[in-house]
Amino acid sequence: MRKLILLVFFVLLCWTSHAQKNAIFFAPHADDESLAMGDAIASAIAEGYNTIVVVLTNGKDVGSVQQYTLSKEDIIKARKRELIIAAEILGVEEENIIFENYDDDKLTVSQCLKTIDKVNHLYPNAKMSTVSVYDTHPDHQAIARALYQSYLNLDKKISIAFYRVYLHADLKTIDKLPRSVEAIPLKYPEIRRKAITSYKDYDPIKGVYGIGYDAEPELFKAALESNYEYRDQLSSKTILLLKNERSTLIIIPALIAGGLLLLSYLFRLVIKQRR
Ligand SMILES: [Zn+2]
Repeated sequence: MRKLILLVFFVLLCWTSHAQKNAIFFAPHADDESLAMGDAIASAIAEGYNTIVVVLTNGKDVGSVQQYTLSKEDIIKARKRELIIAAEILGVEEENIIFENYDDDKLTVSQCLKTIDKVNHLYPNAKMSTVSVYDTHPDHQAIARALYQSYLNLDKKISIAFYRVYLHADLKTIDKLPRSVEAIPLKYPEIRRKAITSYKDYDPIKGVYGIGYDAEPELFKAALESNYEYRDQLSSKTILLLKNERSTLIIIPALIAGGLLLLSYLFRLVIKQRR
């Protein structure tokens, strides 16, 4: 009888771990998770996903670092602390946060591929989200490209989504939304607002110095005013950018323009000869 109970328990354990739904959110920098995907993270938790936040860089080279009397090591600690607080507000527990500690501004696609591979082994076939290839920061482009590459490498067994960070500041009105972007109305605006606002906290006792907010106050203000999160639609142009085949985007129109010029030249030549 005892053996039977143990067997049933084991089968149930296997079944629940297999049935567990995982959602992974990759943030190139601490704060991107809340600014770009805070509502998506809160929604994943509400939908019962085991939700993991992966932070790729250590944050030591934050733009406004000069104004702090902190060492680089303390900056790294403070930025981790800021992220842990914001993620906990969104509903992600500290043990579900992975810090990769790559250097800022130097993030490469191959580093990101390694991280995605590692995370995919821990949480296979997950729903994976990150920032957008249209974001101007090269670290954002690196993780977006790596996630698309992993999606292809894994035979599309993971689902992927890309959320824009800088569009919050760049978009003047919602009717000017680029066609390749979907505006998703916030489901948990209060939770998202609290998470974003926590990056303003200055409290040395808690080990936070408002570094995230100080680095980009305008972006924070714009994100706080927004009623949406912005997700890329996977148009053919977006896929070309994700595959880093931007050159194709330039070469094809250039070839068409060149061909048209040649045709008009030949046409004029024929007309001239006929006269
Ligand atoms: Zn960022």
